[in-house]
Amino acid sequence: MGLKTSFRGVSLPPQKVSNPAIEDAPLPQRVVLPLGQGVERVCQPVVEIGEQVKTGQLVGQSGDFLLAPVHSSISGLVADIRPWFDPLGNEVLSVIVESDGNDSWQEELRSDESFLEKERVQILSDLKAAGVVETGPPTMPLHAKFAQPERPKEFLFLVGIPLAKPVDTVIINGIDAEPGMAGKGAVLQKNSSEILAGIKIVQKLLDSAQVILAVGSNGSLNTSLASELAGLGVKVFQGKDKYPLGLTPILIKCVTGREIPLPDGNEQDIGVAVVDAVTLVHLVEAVRDLKPQVERVVSLSGAGVGAVKNYKVRLGTVVSDLMGQLESLKGEPVKVIAGGAMTGMALFSADIPVTKNTDALIFQTAGEAKSFSQDACINCGTCVRHCPARLLPGELSKYCEFGMFEEARDKYLLHCIECGICAYVCPEKRPMLHLMRFGKRELSLT
Ligand code: SF4
Ligand code: SF4
Repeated sequence: MGLKTSFRGVSLPPQKVSNPAIEDAPLPQRVVLPLGQGVERVCQPVVEIGEQVKTGQLVGQSGDFLLAPVHSSISGLVADIRPWFDPLGNEVLSVIVESDGNDSWQEELRSDESFLEKERVQILSDLKAAGVVETGPPTMPLHAKFAQPERPKEFLFLVGIPLAKPVDTVIINGIDAEPGMAGKGAVLQKNSSEILAGIKIVQKLLDSAQVILAVGSNGSLNTSLASELAGLGVKVFQGKDKYPLGLTPILIKCVTGREIPLPDGNEQDIGVAVVDAVTLVHLVEAVRDLKPQVERVVSLSGAGVGAVKNYKVRLGTVVSDLMGQLESLKGEPVKVIAGGAMTGMALFSADIPVTKNTDALIFQTAGEAKSFSQDACINCGTCVRHCPARLLPGELSKYCEFGMFEEARDKYLLHCIECGICAYVCPEKRPMLHLMRFGKRELSLT
């Protein structure tokens, strides 16, 4: 399949990825488990301070359909339950567990050979119980993503979020969109049996939907995976090496020709579900092994790491603890970016935990960290020529810079997909993405 829709964007330099594809990060001495997504949607803790917990044990849950349960990612003692900062500086109620060093699991993980025979309702129930979450934006529990309105009986147990349109296309996103990210390519290489099993489960959940696996132009699928995919009727979409192809709104547009109705719409409004290849592996582990999501693949780079390395990191591992444990980390990082080089956000503190949303961490030494300028926009138009959302980033940035947020909204600030291209191409090195995010945040507070 070729690109259905062309888009503006940029070609980014290729990155080196280290082998083995994925390593286990050292077991953390403590984990900080946020009980919510942001400050508004928060689970209730179901453990108490001083209680011993096992790996995989439920520590927080909620009746909110759009909130996934939280499990302990290590075994040990609940040392505290208190607010802890998230990457945006919000204080989110969190359960802090200190490790006993044993990593004893709540239940022995066992592979159910007949997991592909499970009924749809059982699959959704397993996903809900395991707390598998699709990385954002927007972050969403997987069971909610697959709730279909035309099957009310099967989904009665879910509180029921009516979808605007049944999902007719599922895109498995195997494209590592930007430098610093390499997790999706790694699971396509290393977890082909889970990728196949995950696709079979998705096909069962949405039996009338076509499934498309999207890979980058360098995304080599091994021959047996490619032929098994063909046997399942899965089409492979091979994209160009052009950023931001891997970002959801652009990927959907290129694969299906459909456009998410921004600013308030989402992929479900146009009958599409995008599932990250890494999330697909968690989906299989939830259904096959009844394994709660207690870890995720995080790509680490910078600070002398050289090639990008993928680690399986326990959720709740505090970034500063991880930095102390990684032998491969050389140099003294002065800046940590959560996410890729284009869309990532600099952390204001390294005492932030890894969450289900942390797909990459970039450690930058003083020599590697880039700084932005306070210079004025010179109206060169470079950002306009590259913006994939067809906006006028220079103008928007000026409105945000001078606190004219309503004017920015009127000029479609909320249609910005936060790809970061305007910051990448700006010859004046203006902090474009920061200004867009700043403006959006100010508008969200009014
Ligand atoms: S305005 Fe938004 S969508 Fe356009 S290039 Fe900048 S960050 Fe990307
Ligand atoms: S690229 Fe930079 S200087 Fe040029 S118009 Fe955009 S914001 Fe202004």
